[in-house]
Amino acid sequence: MQKVRATFSSCLAVLIIGVLAGYAVMLLPQYAEGETISSSPTITIGSPAQQPVRIDANSSSEAITIRVNGVPYTYYTTVSKSTPSPALKPLVTAPKVPTGLRVVSIGDGQLDVAWNKNSESDLKHYRLAYKPAGGSYKSVFTTGTSYSLTGLENGKKYTLKVKAISNSGAESNYCSFVYATPKAIVPSVPKGLKVVSVGDGQLDVAWNKNSESDLKHYRLAYKPAGGSYKSVFTTGTSYSLTGLENGKKYTLKVKAISNSGAESSYCSFVYATPVNSSPSPSESKVEVKTLAPGTKYATPLYVINSGKPGPVVMVVGGVHGNEKAGYTAARKITEYQISRGTLLVLPEANQLAIKAGRRAASGYSDLNRSFPQTSSQAPKTALSRAIFNAIKEHKVDWLIDLHEGYDYYKNSNTSSVGQTLIYYPANSTRTTAQAIVNDLNKGIKTSNQKFTLLRYPVKGSLARAAGEYLGVRAMIFETCSKPALSTRVNYQTQAVNKLLNTLNMR
Ligand SMILES: [Zn+2]
Repeated sequence: MQKVRATFSSCLAVLIIGVLAGYAVMLLPQYAEGETISSSPTITIGSPAQQPVRIDANSSSEAITIRVNGVPYTYYTTVSKSTPSPALKPLVTAPKVPTGLRVVSIGDGQLDVAWNKNSESDLKHYRLAYKPAGGSYKSVFTTGTSYSLTGLENGKKYTLKVKAISNSGAESNYCSFVYATPKAIVPSVPKGLKVVSVGDGQLDVAWNKNSESDLKHYRLAYKPAGGSYKSVFTTGTSYSLTGLENGKKYTLKVKAISNSGAESSYCSFVYATPVNSSPSPSESKVEVKTLAPGTKYATPLYVINSGKPGPVVMVVGGVHGNEKAGYTAARKITEYQISRGTLLVLPEANQLAIKAGRRAASGYSDLNRSFPQTSSQAPKTALSRAIFNAIKEHKVDWLIDLHEGYDYYKNSNTSSVGQTLIYYPANSTRTTAQAIVNDLNKGIKTSNQKFTLLRYPVKGSLARAAGEYLGVRAMIFETCSKPALSTRVNYQTQAVNKLLNTLNMR
């Protein structure tokens, strides 16, 4: 058996460790066992050292060991008689390129990817690299064969690739690129929108629950005919829309919105009209105020508010304390309920005169001559001032002041204005006043007892001042005091009823 001495000299011993940790080619001079020949990575000569090595000439190779980062690798020297220089060939090779990279699912800012498991036993991990179009690569390392990339930009096309890395740090090449674009998941359009019940200014609606698990809420949009859309957001599947306009046809639609803000389309329109199907008297509100409080004139003013828009009508009684039908009727009218607008009732305007049973209390002036007679004049008394201010404050549209006269106006031998309606001129006021007179006269057989329409309430009167200076459609109603009180009170209430009916308030 022939022995050959192979000497590892600096010029002969060539160790190819190019695949190790990214190093290219290294010349290995002669080193002793245990000697460190590189600090990064740490390469230490193992056993046997690259001392002169005995190699059997008939055997063509001899094993030596070196350590990289503490991990032993075995190399074989190969020698020949003619060329005793050993060509060292590493047995450790790079892992295979991973196969089967694929996008398993696309989500909101997310790509779930997977690949096939490599067969190498000494695999450390995989490097998954990804980049958005126009961006640069980022990498994640995982020992598994799948990964969920999150925090990605929706709508961007991403390039993906994976490589395998061995325990020694040897890396495979990257696999072929795979492309995918993350996108938000759009919820499906809600189904089954319907109006569950229709109420007074109210629509109760409901729809079916969406099946998506990441739903944030629903947007319910609604608009009245000729109006514009308003929206409410709710996590539930029903909603009571309130404060709607009765008699208006509303358009309704609903959409679903995901946690990421992705919105479905709106569902098909649904239409409904809120109605006041059961008018409730409790909706109207009666407030009793005091005019001229703290004075000897103090007197209640009833403010009957329907809660709905409409005219403001003021009924006054007891301006004259000896005209009983007026304030008796006015007291009854304080109990009226109305369907729209506001009804103000001042049943006993001049309480001092009513207590005295006289036109005016002794020592006091006639209230119906105490109101302004020019635009710059102030009311003459605390009482007329309080009444005048109340008309202004409540923006009264119509006023009817209930009085009595001692005789029938149609009797030619009298100057009384009994059985008349005296209005402050305005065409629309005259039309309504005429309707009141006509209504009363339908039930009166005796011609000289019929009512007459007059104009120009006397200067200084409540009706004249309200009409002339405050723009109120004003009138004085006068019954003749000769019939029974009940008959006169009926005329008084009939006149007020006709006015309120004409204004659609009862
Ligand atoms: Zn009078």
